[in-house]
Amino acid sequence: MTSNEIRQSFLDFFASKNHKIVPSAPMVVKDDPTLMFTNAGMNQWKNIILGNDPITYPRIADSQKCLRVSGKHNDLEEVGHDTYHHTMFEMLGNWSFGDYFKNEAIEWAWEYLTEVLKLDKDRLYVTVFEGSKEDGLERDNEAAEIWAKFIDKNRIIDGNKHDNFWEMGDTGPCGPCSEIHIDLRSEEERKAIDGKLLVNGDHPQVIEIWNNVFMQYNRKADGSLEPLPKKVIDTGMGFERLCVAVQGKTSNYDTDVFQPMLKAIGKKCDCAYGVSEKTDVAMRVVADHIRTIAFAITDGQLPSNAKAGYVIRRILRRAVRYGYTFLNQHAAFIYKLIPDLIESMGKAYPELKQQQTLIEKVIKEEEEAFLRTLETGIRLLDKIIVDTKNANKTEITGVEAFTLYDTYGFPLDLTELILKENGLTLNENEFNAEMQKQKERARNAASVETGDWVSLLEGDSIFVGYDQTSCETKILRYRKMASKGKEYYQVVLSKTPFYAEMGGQVGDTGTLTSNNEKIIVIDTKKENNLPVHIVEKLPQNVSDVFVAEINADNRTAIEANHSATHLLHEALRQVLGNHVEQKGSYVSANSLRFDFSHFQKLSAEEIRKVEHLVNKKIRQNISLQEYRNIPIAEARELGAMALFGEKYGEEVRVIQYGSSIELCGGTHVKATGCIGMLRIVAESSVAAGIRRIEAVTAENAEKLLDTLQDTQTTIRELFNNVPNILQAIKKTIDDNAVLKKKMEDFMHEKTMNMRNTLLERAANINNVKVIKHIGEDSPELYKNMVPLLKGKFADTKFAFIIGTVYEGKPSLILFLSQPMIDAGFNASTIVREAAKEIQGGGGGQAFMATAGGKNADGIQIAIDKIVEAVTK
Ligand code: ATP
Ligand code: MG
Repeated sequence: MTSNEIRQSFLDFFASKNHKIVPSAPMVVKDDPTLMFTNAGMNQWKNIILGNDPITYPRIADSQKCLRVSGKHNDLEEVGHDTYHHTMFEMLGNWSFGDYFKNEAIEWAWEYLTEVLKLDKDRLYVTVFEGSKEDGLERDNEAAEIWAKFIDKNRIIDGNKHDNFWEMGDTGPCGPCSEIHIDLRSEEERKAIDGKLLVNGDHPQVIEIWNNVFMQYNRKADGSLEPLPKKVIDTGMGFERLCVAVQGKTSNYDTDVFQPMLKAIGKKCDCAYGVSEKTDVAMRVVADHIRTIAFAITDGQLPSNAKAGYVIRRILRRAVRYGYTFLNQHAAFIYKLIPDLIESMGKAYPELKQQQTLIEKVIKEEEEAFLRTLETGIRLLDKIIVDTKNANKTEITGVEAFTLYDTYGFPLDLTELILKENGLTLNENEFNAEMQKQKERARNAASVETGDWVSLLEGDSIFVGYDQTSCETKILRYRKMASKGKEYYQVVLSKTPFYAEMGGQVGDTGTLTSNNEKIIVIDTKKENNLPVHIVEKLPQNVSDVFVAEINADNRTAIEANHSATHLLHEALRQVLGNHVEQKGSYVSANSLRFDFSHFQKLSAEEIRKVEHLVNKKIRQNISLQEYRNIPIAEARELGAMALFGEKYGEEVRVIQYGSSIELCGGTHVKATGCIGMLRIVAESSVAAGIRRIEAVTAENAEKLLDTLQDTQTTIRELFNNVPNILQAIKKTIDDNAVLKKKMEDFMHEKTMNMRNTLLERAANINNVKVIKHIGEDSPELYKNMVPLLKGKFADTKFAFIIGTVYEGKPSLILFLSQPMIDAGFNASTIVREAAKEIQGGGGGQAFMATAGGKNADGIQIAIDKIVEAVTK
């Protein structure tokens, strides 16, 4: 079977067991502060499992794109070195929400593997949870007994809490799990060592393929467990590993999922797979990472220097580095493999083809930037090596290695490799300590303590904020939170007009008022799809009836900005072309930000055109047409554009202003006239191929224009309100240039005159020619004089000593000729000493030094001191 056939057979099998087959959710998670990437099939069902979303289908199956490169699941360092962990992989899964449980789950898993795929029963092993004293849990005998119906008792292995008890997080749904492992070794190897002994032993050919989780408990904040009202089956099977088993291979990279890419890499890099381990690792790294990066970009996550973007950047850099070190690729090469990726995966994932140019541009730019960093790092390392050798040492410090790691993207093994070539080592303990410190810094910055929910009432939270700015409501539940030493509460209301931050639109602020008190809501966010109101203190009586009221002025300003982004999006497509696609947006009361795909800077004319188009639509005062809860197919028919990488439900909301039609859950103005006006205030680049526009509307546009007009008025007044202000400014600039030139000539003449006067006054003291002078001209004048005097006294002992009080500030200047320096005098030390008299400091070089100070009265004594010092 080909990999495509295997995937299809899984979906068909569970469809035949009455499962609803759904598409994969995007790999990049948006609007969830606890998760950057989908790392398991169950992520998109989290809200159903938590009871925050209704169960639409009690049985679901799918194939989910997963990424395990951060947080709880991080396989990044394994990838390439082993043959069965990937960064991005597909997870085949089936779910039951309060429907079937262990019996069916186990039976069907067995049926699918052994009857549909005909995997050899003698190669399979299963694990069950052994129980846990601290949690008061017995062995999962229930699962073991069901398994025993299908598989020899000898092949059922007990597993500990670490491997066989799954938890969503520190709190929340959890339960025992059963894993299915397969032994892919040759007959001889299997005879020599019993496969049972290798299960969970990191053997590359005895691997876990499928995990069946039986969620039956809820873990509370105090650590105790309570039964889950609706039990959940959650399974996940590694698709690439399953292909290995079905296709009779021993490595994921030998299946048709990876072979085409490995061949392409071999061709581009002039190497072959299977010849040397080092090259193989590097080829696997590139073959794996290129998928992840390309899919992340189509999902809307570009490499950047923060959060999810930074994770993607690091993956790309890892591929570049392996290519650089082991495949001899010193110029950007990964982007050149994108056509090959599209060739092998483009059919199943058409978005790759659609966004090909963007993917290639982004990768190329990133590769080139990182190669430059890499070379800088290598130069730094070269210097460290030389310094270490010169100091007769053989070890570089952990701090140096960490700097290379942290700033230049050098992992420890690369640094070690280069050091080894130079006969050096590094202090690994120190390095690890630095690493630990960094991790702690990150953890402290991110940690949030979550209390248990206190439930007051049952029911769902109803959002009325599309139509109302206030309503009566009661508190459904609340919990205490703490982050960075600050405590606050999350409150869920039975009914709420507060919009929770989503799709780039910031959350509402406002108040909760009862007969007795008023509580300020500082923000509203979605957590696991639950709208939570953030308050700094709880009401005294949490069971009161409250009036929830949003800050309406604020909301009006937000709505104007949000609706304006829709008009902006349309105008950009009109002016720049249909390749323009939204890549992110941020809408607050003050301004709006809109990121979109486009390959060059917008010209001033283009910006104007866009502004004019938007403002025309605003003046047309087009009424809002809103469609709530319509099927997505119908929305598409209306012409609404769905963004790739955005997760939409089956029912969507459409926002239409004439020809602008978008899928959007945000709040909007009743008619475009409410936007007042849009002005673009900035246009910039956020990444290769992505531009950003910042703009203001309504009152903020008015403020902007006020400021511009006020500035203009002030300028006019400064120019006595002449009729042609531009001409007047130009003339002033020209006049100024002429005056400046005249001034320079004048200063030069003055300097020459002064020099001549001073020369006449030059005295001979103790065989030293001394010019000393106290004046009120700028120190610059005297400094400029130095080159005019220098030549005259090149072979004489000569000191030029100036004190000047210019604009009330005293300064000292001392110049000494070469013979003076030869005789051991140092202008810098002398001036620094004398500067004490003017309460100042300064310095310079042996032949010339200056000082500035505060006490002008001390200038005479300072000069006397200098004279004394240079003539003794
Ligand atoms: P392992 O111990 O092999 O890392 P796991 O315990 O982390 O696996 P689960 O979290 O149970 O795996 O995920 C379910 C299935 O997904 C696994 O049985 C495996 O087939 C697959 N899987 C997990 N991690 C990866 C990965 N990094 N690459 C490819 N497949 C994976
Ligand atoms: Mg794992």
